[in-house]
Amino acid sequence: MTTRLVLVINCGSSSIKFALRKEGDSQPLLSGLAEQLDTPGANLSWQAGNEKHTEALSGQDHQSALASLLPVIGRFAGQPISAVGHRVVHGGEHFTGASLIDEQVMAAIEANAPLAPLHNPANLIGIRAARKVFQDIPQVAIFDTAFHQSMPPHAYRYALPDDLYAVHGVRRYGFHGTSHQYVTNQASRLTGQRPGQGAWLSAHLGNGCSSCAVFNGKSLDTSMGLTPLEGLVMGTRSGDVDPNLHAHLARTLGWDLPRIERLLNRESGLLGLSGLSNDMRQLEQARANGHSGAKLAIEVFCYRLARSLAGLAVALPHLDGLVFTGGIGENSPLIRALTLNHLGILGLSLDPDANSSLPRGLAGKIHAPGSPQILVIPTDEERQIAEESLVLLDHSHAKD
Ligand code: ADP
Repeated sequence: MTTRLVLVINCGSSSIKFALRKEGDSQPLLSGLAEQLDTPGANLSWQAGNEKHTEALSGQDHQSALASLLPVIGRFAGQPISAVGHRVVHGGEHFTGASLIDEQVMAAIEANAPLAPLHNPANLIGIRAARKVFQDIPQVAIFDTAFHQSMPPHAYRYALPDDLYAVHGVRRYGFHGTSHQYVTNQASRLTGQRPGQGAWLSAHLGNGCSSCAVFNGKSLDTSMGLTPLEGLVMGTRSGDVDPNLHAHLARTLGWDLPRIERLLNRESGLLGLSGLSNDMRQLEQARANGHSGAKLAIEVFCYRLARSLAGLAVALPHLDGLVFTGGIGENSPLIRALTLNHLGILGLSLDPDANSSLPRGLAGKIHAPGSPQILVIPTDEERQIAEESLVLLDHSHAKD
């Protein structure tokens, strides 16, 4: 049997990120980005091995950008692709796993748009465009929220009147599901357990940050909620604040909702605390040079992360280990060490040499003897999307 190919698409309102993945391969055959779509500056860039290419697509939309990719894909694929896997941000309660896209699935993604007004409509633009360009190829939707649909009600309900949940869907959904699923699955492999087995905490630390408790392949709780604002300190997002902050700012400063939303989503987090930057690399340098805002931002970030992980541990029957991933989790020995300083309560103990010498971009173990596992695992959401798309195709063929 030939190894199958999947085109993975992550579509924003003016961009398409794409990767052509071969089943079982850790690296994409082809990857790239079309951006500034629908504007005169629209452009497409891609990379395949050592070959790089950029071209102007001036004024072109999502569909024509995908159409101009067709010959490129043809050149590097050398065989028909088996599926197109679309990242979709919000699946609400409707989607508990990957779904083969048809009109009904598209209507359900649209119905969830009020929960992700910036993302779901953009994801649908990509789906519609890809269905026109890749007419005969099955299209699969993979949801950021689906992995967390295994959370029990005591983890996903807010202490609010029932109607808000039952009629309006106000509950905790969680995000970054593809990443938490991928790295905890890899953690099982790396530690000699069957794939998907074990009791793990995971910390996805990128520009957005979330933590998750995973037992035997199922998410039992996570730090993000109704929206990706809840939980940890992030690059520009505050994470948890007193829910009465909105009313306080409205009353004392006269701020309206758009102003408060901008504050909490764009001006807070590492950027707000440090007064300097949302970029952890830059903050680490500034901290080393004695910048007090950077020092404080890093301390709050690590303490709040540790507090979240310790809280999530109650969802697990025991603890096999903790996984760090995302740009910060994979690359920052400092953040890992400062976070673990607060986690002795879970018996977690770091091997400082292993932590500082782990080569960038590689998975590895960084715990001291006798500690539960502490692992660094580079996330690969595109690979997870490609693999889930193929598993879904296999299941749907088996049913035929
Ligand atoms: P996104 O969530 O947009 O995918 P990434 O997962 O790439 O983002 O993470 C971006 C974050 O990772 C930034 O804060 C960046 O500074 C941080 N980062 C990347 N490399 C390092 C490093 N060597 N040390 C510390 N932080 C790093």
